[in-house]
Amino acid sequence: MKAFTYARADSLAQAAAAAAKPGTKLIAGGTNLLDLMKLQVETPSELVDINHLPLDKIEDTPDGGLRIGAMVRNSDLAAESRIRQRYGVLSRALLAGASAQLRNKATTGGNLLQRTRCYYFYDVTKPCNKRVPGSGCAALGGFNRIHAILGTSDHCIATNPSDMAVAMRVLDAKVETVNGNGEAREIPIADFHRLPGNTPQIETALKPGEIITSVTLPPPPPGLQVYRKVRDRASYAFALVSVAAIVDATAGRIRSARVAFGGLAHKPWRTSRSEQKLMDSPAMTSTFDAAASEVLVEAHGFGGNDFKIPLTRRTLHAVLSEVTRT
Ligand code: SF4
Repeated sequence: MKAFTYARADSLAQAAAAAAKPGTKLIAGGTNLLDLMKLQVETPSELVDINHLPLDKIEDTPDGGLRIGAMVRNSDLAAESRIRQRYGVLSRALLAGASAQLRNKATTGGNLLQRTRCYYFYDVTKPCNKRVPGSGCAALGGFNRIHAILGTSDHCIATNPSDMAVAMRVLDAKVETVNGNGEAREIPIADFHRLPGNTPQIETALKPGEIITSVTLPPPPPGLQVYRKVRDRASYAFALVSVAAIVDATAGRIRSARVAFGGLAHKPWRTSRSEQKLMDSPAMTSTFDAAASEVLVEAHGFGGNDFKIPLTRRTLHAVLSEVTRT
């Protein structure tokens, strides 16, 4: 690890000023950043600790939703009674992620900003456009079992590793930020993470000096909430495919449905055309297949991850069968 200085931010203004400085990184739980520093993927000259910022509350909002502070730990969020009762898909997604020790440290804001788990991004001896723009992409012709099948580019085929973000996508969360001038901004979660395009090193809509203060959840929509994660082992592994679903169905008929996917793209993936196939439709195999076909219409694999296409179809089918069973 390279030498760095350490400082503590006692205010949002200090944190935002630090975030705008080249070579400075903010550290909260550090569950991803410290690994990256040990591997010299990240080599900040200064770390600014934001663990003392007053952003650790979960509050009711006037419209009946919740505001989650950026420093709320993943374990605390998963266990919170309002989350468990009204946003079960979020609680389940959080508990499907990482290990208990990591969830105790990881924060809401940090979870949204975690980097891809592409093997080549973590190996500084390999070309990687995300780590060194213009150097190439070792995953394109390499071992790409965990990589994306949707929204890829010639420059990067990495996936976003967050389970929490997939649940937030199906819940239509909004990310609240502030910059060094005290200007606040609200970013729909759909627009927060970017597709790689020709700048895979730019992963979110955050601007320099802009920091996450909270995430708001609107009131939950009606229906059963499910999070299903398919992975190579039962715990402490990232999703090959995950599905977050909220489905309102009675007597074998789907009234409304929302479905978001993890493990498939550089961001949580959700398509309105697929959800339209489920709306006001019979809960049967042909309906589920039509919805899956819409999700996968532009999907393509890179050899090692071709299996994700049928796996996505089967996982969606299993989730929809579960939530519409009467
Ligand atoms: Fe780097 Fe993206 Fe290619 Fe992985 S997929 S090696 S992160 S450019």
